[in-house]
Amino acid sequence: MNFSYQNSTQIFFGQGQISNITQAIDKSKKVLVIYGGGSIKKNGVYQQVEQALTDHNWLEFSGVEANPTKETMDKAVTIIKEQNVDFILAVGGGSVIDGAKYAAAAAHYDGDGWDILTGAYKPQVATPIGVILTIPATGSESNANSVITKAETQQKLPFAATCVHPQFAVMDPDVMKTLPEKQLVNGIVDAWVHVCEQYITKASGALVQDGYSESLLRALKTLGDTYAERDNDLWRANLMWTANQALNGLIAAGVEQDWATHMIGHELTALWHVDHARSLAIVQPSLLRNQIEYKRGKLEQMGRNVFGLEGGSDLAERTIDAIETFYNQLGVATQLTEHDGDKAQAIELVIKRLEGHGLTSLTENQSVTPVEARQILEAAVA
Ligand code: NAP
Ligand code: FE
Repeated sequence: MNFSYQNSTQIFFGQGQISNITQAIDKSKKVLVIYGGGSIKKNGVYQQVEQALTDHNWLEFSGVEANPTKETMDKAVTIIKEQNVDFILAVGGGSVIDGAKYAAAAAHYDGDGWDILTGAYKPQVATPIGVILTIPATGSESNANSVITKAETQQKLPFAATCVHPQFAVMDPDVMKTLPEKQLVNGIVDAWVHVCEQYITKASGALVQDGYSESLLRALKTLGDTYAERDNDLWRANLMWTANQALNGLIAAGVEQDWATHMIGHELTALWHVDHARSLAIVQPSLLRNQIEYKRGKLEQMGRNVFGLEGGSDLAERTIDAIETFYNQLGVATQLTEHDGDKAQAIELVIKRLEGHGLTSLTENQSVTPVEARQILEAAVA
């Protein structure tokens, strides 16, 4: 397919790179530093930011929660407007970065920022953003995407806008040293599913995109297989770079994309606070089995080129089994157990919400309608 591709985020990669923000942010700018629940104060990242911004005019906004809410970020919007902030520095993971993107766009809109998520308002202008990444997972540090939750209605929706694409991202693998095990594993799984969403679709014949996707999947598989060696500079650097490349636009260029696992997963997070990555591991194996006839060719290719499996008429089935085993070996469950009430009720709730969000023909084939979504959840909910 035809495509237009641009990724304008300047990456500062490696140990000790945070100090680059001194030059990367113009001293004439009024900077709002946005961060989360305080992990950056415990691991020295905040202190490095303070040091680097000694001669800048800056203020801060903290308390962005995992799965950032519109309600929290609207407070940042008020600060941006009232204080005439003209640069945002997001210091954190996908949640902080996504929240900063919402605030950057909503600050230039007079209506309710939630309009950005419903599509009623399409942002063309936003306050410029720079990022210091503290957890490799989402790729949000160099893409135009954001996912925001409305706490009031428990809705979790994505938006994409070129104007929120970060100008730069500092990726210092040392910041990962304080990551809880759970978050480290989440990063591997989220990045893995990002590649899958862009790769396990129709045969495209796109040699570069296919080959690059397989290379990223093999890298993530290797990082999972060598998880015992995670306290290692090279291991950390490899994960940080792989997770970034998994969702920076390149492997999506010119090929079909799926994203059904993410859309269904978002509902599990919004309803039961399942970690984003874990919601994906719950949905994806059941979804792939449900959609296997559409995806057989790509699954066979993945089985051969990523898992090194031998051919055979059940190669696609064995590839899905291998994906599930990969999650399980990392200690990640592939069944939802967090729901309250009975299974049938939980499934109906998810279906209703998907319908409410207009998500009634998902995947690259529009072949996950509420009928298939129900079958997928039947298999995925314990
Ligand atoms: P996250 O939600 O940003 O962070 C998870 C937790 O990790 C937070 O409690 C945070 O604590 C902690 N943490 C972060 N860095 C740390 C460090 N260096 N040391 C210790 N603790 C640290 O995680 P995420 O997986 O990056 O982001 C998930 C969100 O991104 C979800 O909302 C998901 O839907 C979204 N997402 C976005 C995209 C995209 O392209 N934009 C793609 C996929 C998913 P503190 O708050 O204290 O820092
Ligand atoms: Fe994701």
